[in-house]
Amino acid sequence: MDWIEIKKDPKHIAKEKNKAKKLRKSQWWLNKISVGICHYCKKKFNANELTMDHVVPISRGGLSNKKNIVPCCKKCNSEKKYLTPVEMIMNQTNNAKDE
Ligand SMILES: [Zn+2]
Repeated sequence: MDWIEIKKDPKHIAKEKNKAKKLRKSQWWLNKISVGICHYCKKKFNANELTMDHVVPISRGGLSNKKNIVPCCKKCNSEKKYLTPVEMIMNQTNNAKDE
């Protein structure tokens, strides 16, 4: 079983999303967002203004590990949206909840 080889398997996506969820609660991530630097624009933000972003989207075979997950401000996240279908779906889900 080598999940890295499976690029578009829904199980891969579910597994990596789940790992990302766990990482979001980790001390490593809390440290990252308390430093508060957006990976893309390099500006400083409050922890609650940063979102978790996959450099290589999970849907393209990206993994939820410390090399592939970066803090991203909401502006960069929304500008990057069209490149990352998984995040678009996630955002749509979130928006649906808010409305
Ligand atoms: Zn940014």
